[in-house]
Amino acid sequence: MPIKLLDPKVVSLIAAGEVVERPASVVKELVENSLDAGSSQISIEVRGGGVGLIRVTDNGTGIPSDEVELAFDRYATSKIGNVDDLESISSLGFRGEALPSIAAVAEVDIVTCAVGESVGNYLSLKDGAAANKASQGRPQGTTVTVRGLFRKVPARLKFLKTPATENSHIANVVSQYALTFPEVKFDLLIDGRAALRTPGSGRLIDTVTQVYGLEVAQNMLEIGGGDKEWESGAATSSLSVTGMVGSPAITRSNRSYLSLFVNRRWISSRLLAWAVEQAYHGLLMQGKHPVAIINISLPPEEVDVNVHPTKTEVKFQNEHIVFGAVQKAVRRALIEMAPVPKIEEVATTYGAPSRTRPVLRTSPIGGDSPITSPAIPQTPVVALPVLRILGQLLSSYIIAEGPDGLYLIDQHAAHERILFEKVKDQRLRQEIEIQGLLEPVTFEVNPKQEEVLKFHSEDLAEFGFSIESFGDRTYLVRAVPALLYQKDWAGMVRELLDSLSGGDKRDWREEIAISMACHSAVRAGQTLTDDEMRDLIRQLEQAALPHACPHGRPTMIRLSSAQLRKEFGRS
Ligand code: ADP
Ligand code: MG
Repeated sequence: MPIKLLDPKVVSLIAAGEVVERPASVVKELVENSLDAGSSQISIEVRGGGVGLIRVTDNGTGIPSDEVELAFDRYATSKIGNVDDLESISSLGFRGEALPSIAAVAEVDIVTCAVGESVGNYLSLKDGAAANKASQGRPQGTTVTVRGLFRKVPARLKFLKTPATENSHIANVVSQYALTFPEVKFDLLIDGRAALRTPGSGRLIDTVTQVYGLEVAQNMLEIGGGDKEWESGAATSSLSVTGMVGSPAITRSNRSYLSLFVNRRWISSRLLAWAVEQAYHGLLMQGKHPVAIINISLPPEEVDVNVHPTKTEVKFQNEHIVFGAVQKAVRRALIEMAPVPKIEEVATTYGAPSRTRPVLRTSPIGGDSPITSPAIPQTPVVALPVLRILGQLLSSYIIAEGPDGLYLIDQHAAHERILFEKVKDQRLRQEIEIQGLLEPVTFEVNPKQEEVLKFHSEDLAEFGFSIESFGDRTYLVRAVPALLYQKDWAGMVRELLDSLSGGDKRDWREEIAISMACHSAVRAGQTLTDDEMRDLIRQLEQAALPHACPHGRPTMIRLSSAQLRKEFGRS
């Protein structure tokens, strides 16, 4: 085939492909336009996974009647005027590509009424060209309707996923913009069903409640944004980091709950996601990821948004400064959440802590196994102060007094944390205490359990289980970890075999340790003696991560002296 210039129509389709990859990209571009138009209310209606219909209605500035057609010309934009403007972009759009790109791959119509105009305008387009125009009444704002997306681009259509998947991408786009514009009221209707509705109150926490639910919202911590100036050598930039992060109690198994915004633009950045996760170092279990909404604002000239057609990638002038600022801001929010003084700081008031001294009791509470001296903890992230025990509540919680208020400690969660660290530590040192059974016990498994057991029998052996095949899906257990002796170790092993398939060894070891800790820990509802409570708290003080159980749930709640005074109306 000889070389020839591509038909302009083909060129526009290729360019459109970069901007309009799937229905969610159309939603993103239209919502960005509505936000750029200063709207306080945006509703999005979607049918058939976005292929049938996408309609975005706003109450923004609208498009003046003599500019409506022009808005659909390629590279027509009201947002930048010249090349210099590209260096300090403060709007979400600036390429003038979205409307023409969408019109190239779908049937589009628009009804818009600009500020100061008494009547609105209607324009419909077919194959990217104006087909019908008329005056039409409507209040100030714009409605763009997109139908039959990719109907004429079967290659694109083929790559779309099920309507449910496309809907989930759309819901995600709207959620992200709702999170970064809490003052805007968003309404998302999917096939007639209200999928998301935000109040537009201006308070991020209200939007978080709608997007992620009450449980997450109740566990969010505000990022201060206090320090606005960050300096590094000669380069000084003024940048602020605000938003909210989830406490380590509400982790997720993937990174899709980590949202990053730069000057209110939703971006993806592996580096900044890494900065956030770094701030959680030591607080999250392996494979767990935080919930976070991070708003970075900095002078527009210090960030280049013109890197990629979809505008989701940005380039910072001083990447390392932004990285540091994000990490520091998140870390501070997390530490302030648990502002428990370091043990050293209170040692003088409360006597020397028994940090490395062996615990003297010969048996742990609720357990039957002998106890050895606890391992020297790894660098504690947030150490626990020495606590004075006041009593037990509901046979489940220990009430204690610390240098800065009242502590309610969940006895099961706390004991789980202690045992989890102990088990992991003993396995590493190959010092798991084993208890031989007087007589071997037979243990039957189902076919699926057997597959997992075969794959992981060595891991179980490392933790003290001596299990050998007896044929016919029956196994002989000769010894178990001392911690589980006289506990329901068979139930624990069965649960473990059911909950997991043959997979990553590292995760499996973690799971075994968690499971052992959970099954041997003191239960809720179990009355403890003063000695037992004291022993548990002393061990908790020595834990590397005393504030969360291995499942990530909190082990304690603290009511600070200041809070107490406030509650009782004292200053
Ligand atoms: P860009 O957003 O990059 O400028 P678009 O193709 O998305 O390019 O839009 C072209 C122009 O149409 C915008 O610059 C803006 O002036 C106008 N426009 C589009 N949507 C709206 C809207 N919802 N409200 C007001 N003006 C709009
Ligand atoms: Mg745009």
